[in-house]
Amino acid sequence: MKRILVTGGAGFVGSHLCERLLNDGHEVISLDNYFTGGKRNIVHLLDNPYFEIVRHDVTMPFFIEVDEIYNLACPASPIHYQYNAIKTVKTSVMGAINMLGLAKRIKAKVLQASTSEVYGDPLVHPQTEDYWGHVNPIGERSCYDEGKRVGETLFMSYHKQNNVQIKIIRIFNTYGPRMHPNDGRVVSNFIVQALNGNDISIYGDGTQTRSFQYIDDLLNGMIKMMGTDDTFTGPVNIGNPDEFTILELAERIIRLTGSKSKLVFEPLPADDPLQRQPDISLAREKLNWEPKVKLEEGLVKTIAYFEKLLGEQ
Ligand code: NAD
Ligand code: UDP
Repeated sequence: MKRILVTGGAGFVGSHLCERLLNDGHEVISLDNYFTGGKRNIVHLLDNPYFEIVRHDVTMPFFIEVDEIYNLACPASPIHYQYNAIKTVKTSVMGAINMLGLAKRIKAKVLQASTSEVYGDPLVHPQTEDYWGHVNPIGERSCYDEGKRVGETLFMSYHKQNNVQIKIIRIFNTYGPRMHPNDGRVVSNFIVQALNGNDISIYGDGTQTRSFQYIDDLLNGMIKMMGTDDTFTGPVNIGNPDEFTILELAERIIRLTGSKSKLVFEPLPADDPLQRQPDISLAREKLNWEPKVKLEEGLVKTIAYFEKLLGEQ
């Protein structure tokens, strides 16, 4: 049994990770300031004596004795991370410094939840880890993209200078139950719109692409990455290489929900990447990992979650 700290433990990914680590027999501490996450995501875990929650902001130092740290604290949806851009940068940068300082002091292993956004609007397709990216440093997305890029820099620097055991994963668009219904991300938006019979909001002409990974596949990749030997730091892409246009996603969600919603076209947000698909050769080789859940199967589970949630409101 390990003692494991999950920052951002009350968020979409973090809450699933806490649950999975508890089920695997570990002691888990969730640290969260509840900016975008909520206690509703973890309330079902509170009876577990091996689970603790701490209300704390990762931009402030935090001390605890643990074996492993998963650093997930950071708003992930564009509307949330753009709401307070300065805070987003602070969360990524100061959060990384605080968690790396803690890991150094207590000799813990620390994993950074980085993102495909480090590739920006990519000029290389699919994206391999050795691609340096194409990021606008002063654009709408820069607080998140550049914050996460500095996060990676800090992780590598603490590893090289101070021998901290680090792991960096670059997560590609992930979806599943417990996504916030109003966080503006495309899968949750379309499902909620379809279930409510509202228009489906396609930004741009809908030909931009994304590759959608179901949450269970991400959890397997994260945990495998944490378990790799000390010589492997990453970064490693964790995502599903099946690529779809946003229009294809909308059509599938309409079909699976049996909705009568119509498509409406709205302006494409600034710096919205036109294509995104992970090359996962490195994850296959180093982690013996690849995603298992097909889009349709994951969407059915996610739709069932939102149907129940909307029924309760
Ligand atoms: P989320 O918004 O649901 O969860 C983030 C959590 O971090 C929330 O519970 C929030 O309250 C907490 N948080 C935010 N700022 C904080 C702070 N200063 N101090 C303490 N807690 C703070 O997002 P998510 O989808 O669960 O993403 C989790 C992590 O994975 C993020 O770091 C994100 O960048 C990364 N990621 C996610 C995706 C995805 O598709 N979901 C893709 C790439 C990377
Ligand atoms: N998108 C859309 N309609 C929506 C929400 C998003 O067409 O209601 C598009 C968005 O412009 C982007 C893609 O879907 O091209 C994925 O958006 P999301 O915010 O989920 O993730 P990210 O852009 O960070 O990959």
